[in-house]
Amino acid sequence: MSDKNYYIEAHDFNPNAKIISRPDIKFDEAEAGIKLHELHVKPGTKQLVNFKFNGLEIPATFIHGLHDDNKLEKTFVITAGVHPDEYPGIAALVRTANKINPEKLNGHLLLFHCVNLPGFWARSRFVPEDGFNLNSGYPGRPDGTLGERIADFFVKNIFPQADFILDLHSGSPTERLTTCLFYPEDARKDIRDISFNAAMATDIPWVLASHAKDGEYSYAANYMNVPGLLLERGYAGQCREEWIRAFERDIALLLKHFNMYDDLPELTNIPPCRKNICEQTFYLASKHTGLWYPDENIVNSIMEGRLIRKGSRLGHIENFYGEFLGDYYAEADGIIFYYTSGLAIREGEMLVAYGLLN
Ligand SMILES: [Zn+2]
Repeated sequence: MSDKNYYIEAHDFNPNAKIISRPDIKFDEAEAGIKLHELHVKPGTKQLVNFKFNGLEIPATFIHGLHDDNKLEKTFVITAGVHPDEYPGIAALVRTANKINPEKLNGHLLLFHCVNLPGFWARSRFVPEDGFNLNSGYPGRPDGTLGERIADFFVKNIFPQADFILDLHSGSPTERLTTCLFYPEDARKDIRDISFNAAMATDIPWVLASHAKDGEYSYAANYMNVPGLLLERGYAGQCREEWIRAFERDIALLLKHFNMYDDLPELTNIPPCRKNICEQTFYLASKHTGLWYPDENIVNSIMEGRLIRKGSRLGHIENFYGEFLGDYYAEADGIIFYYTSGLAIREGEMLVAYGLLN
């Protein structure tokens, strides 16, 4: 027998319902809608949901733990597929949704398996209809393009009831990366601290201070005072088993950290790794449009976790006739977090991101 309720399509909820407001959040309550009880997710049960609303469609699982009066119930939101060509997080979330036993959960889990479903089927990083990047276009608009409406949906309906937001990413098909995470360094002190302490509970070795404010979790942290993290594992558009498993472990470690769930010993019995904190990340942007050839220097340093040194060449750009356009050098000692593996690059796009070591 399954512990899941039947799959439902959530398009008939009341979009004008009030949600439980948080005193520290300012938003338009009249616009806010979805509540767990409207989806009939009773304590101790799990509900598969397919959100179809305002032209968007998002597969999700809502899990309502059994109430425990001794503990404060938390709502933990996890999203994958914000960049839908980044696969390991999507697979990890599907598995997590299946593994969690609602009778042993304390609080609420809202798992959005693939936020940008049209992009997933199109194998695109963006929302195909409008080219919207769901990690840099928040807060969106209720009457805007599809991408803007997805962002608006989360701002109005999901973030206000979240106590923590975890967003899962990977390197895209043309990105190689070091396993790392971002926390909202510029958020209100208590929000920054909750996020940072959660980062320490993950199994991710590189902890990067982020100053972004218009992405999914970063908008919620900076403007709605919801703490959160963005995790990065895996690269090159691949979906290796080890990465899926590692994301599952990060989620399990965070659930344990928040005293929400501790019934995945195979994922949590080994303590998390040691952390390196990087307070400044340097983004090397292209000054040319052309064909980008990263040097072996980068490829080797990221594979070996080795430093690149100030002044070392990172790569060069040519045009389509093989004519040289420019060299690119490291401007400081650092560790490479990710780079564009080539070949196409346009002016202003990111070539290499590396962390400056103090
Ligand atoms: Zn991403």
